[in-house]
Amino acid sequence: MKMNPNEIQLPADAVDFIDDAKLEALVAGMKEDADAVRAVIAKSMRKEALTVEETAVLLAAESPELVEEIFEAARQLKRDVYGNRIVFFAPLYVGNYCINNCKYCGFRKSLSSAVRHTLTEDELTREVHALEDIGHKRLILVYGESPIYSPEYIAKTVRQVYATKKGHGEIRRVNINAAPLDEEGFRIVKEAGIGTYQIFQETYHKKTYAEWHPANTMKGHYMWRLNAFDRAFRAGIDDMGLGVLFGLYDWRFEVLAMVTHARYLQEKFGVGPHTLSFPRIKAAEGVDLNLKYQVTDEQYKRLVAILRLAVPYTGLIMTAREPAELRREVLAFGVSQIDAGTKLEIGGYQEKRNEGDQTLNREQFQVGDTRGLDEVMGEILEGGYIPSFCTSCYRLGRTGEHFMEYAIPGFIGRFCTPNALVTLAEYLWDYASPETRAKGEALIAKEVEKLEPKLHDEVLRRLDRIRAGERDLYF
Ligand code: SAM
Ligand code: SF4
Repeated sequence: MKMNPNEIQLPADAVDFIDDAKLEALVAGMKEDADAVRAVIAKSMRKEALTVEETAVLLAAESPELVEEIFEAARQLKRDVYGNRIVFFAPLYVGNYCINNCKYCGFRKSLSSAVRHTLTEDELTREVHALEDIGHKRLILVYGESPIYSPEYIAKTVRQVYATKKGHGEIRRVNINAAPLDEEGFRIVKEAGIGTYQIFQETYHKKTYAEWHPANTMKGHYMWRLNAFDRAFRAGIDDMGLGVLFGLYDWRFEVLAMVTHARYLQEKFGVGPHTLSFPRIKAAEGVDLNLKYQVTDEQYKRLVAILRLAVPYTGLIMTAREPAELRREVLAFGVSQIDAGTKLEIGGYQEKRNEGDQTLNREQFQVGDTRGLDEVMGEILEGGYIPSFCTSCYRLGRTGEHFMEYAIPGFIGRFCTPNALVTLAEYLWDYASPETRAKGEALIAKEVEKLEPKLHDEVLRRLDRIRAGERDLYF
């Protein structure tokens, strides 16, 4: 495991596929063209991925009517491709020791006021129990970059989380967000059974990257990070989540770069990213939020809608960094996964403090939506969405190039919706408040009626089996 940027040796075929000058020129040349925008929207509505140039056409739209057409197209595509399911997960911070000095992060090495801690085995068990006690089934484990968090250590924690069960509670999918590893390291974490390997480039703009990530640090090595998914893929990881930390540079440049990265992976490996993340920078210990490139709510909505249209088959993750109000609105633009009940403090789940209580020097940044899982579930149900804890595809090996997911006609109807309904039922009967349970049961009754006859009967049979005490009956 490398801890010194001078030791980094990139694989011989590592390529810098981000052409800053080309993307800068596309941003500089943006000029609204209503006909072109409508032609590009028409292409996305045929569920075809957009090129970088076509994405730039959408980013150039400024007039309210045209922007509304983009929003409406994103809502429509979300309904067509994903249906009305929203998958729930929770982040679990394992440790915040870090050798890097990313200037936006509350874990950075130079921040002496940060309270450092790595969960002990016992504490990790208690964190997982606390998450299982509220109904979570999918976690993303998050680590700083440190010799402590070696691939072996990460693999050990992943295995421990899978093995930690309580009553009906179990974690069925463990994703990780960790510093880029070498190929051997990726092989080790893959063997532990990780779901998605997630890592954000933060900013694809090289000059800006250098300003935020000091040169003599591991994270300061732009290409080591940009090449991470290539190494992960070679190590057998075909489920990858990429992202940008919005607010460091021009949001339109970053959207074009994310699309470039997604297309690069698709072309080189035949597999695009499983998910895209688009966090906005939030208050953290010692971080000046008076940023030149701060993304407004309006721009945020546009970037989500445009990503939806640009990569129709890629999942979009919106985290609790964003406030509840905005999350409510943006969900409709094609977000497929959200977290809820999120605690970023190391050990924060088992402490059972009041929702909304946060101590900045113990966490990486400030959470915007501090509501508990049950409350968010209730709201999602009221909005007519089906909350899902499904983990079936990953467990049945439906990933990577074998996983055409939404491209297979009828896939959602045959697998995703039934799985969403049975995992929702488990949640309702094991963990929900009476109000959420009533809302959820009403939604299940309505949704079951929409299923084709054979599936309808099978889902009803499985719901009966769950009522009788069986669990984990996935399609
Ligand atoms: N240390 C690993 C790394 O940097 O890739 C993984 C963990 S890091 C804790 C996860 C992500 O949190 C980072 O990639 C960054 O995008 C995000 N992050 C850091 N500081 C943030 C802030 N102030 N506001 C919002 N997100 C932040
Ligand atoms: Fe460390 Fe990651 Fe924070 Fe950078 S973003 S200081 S690498 S935890």
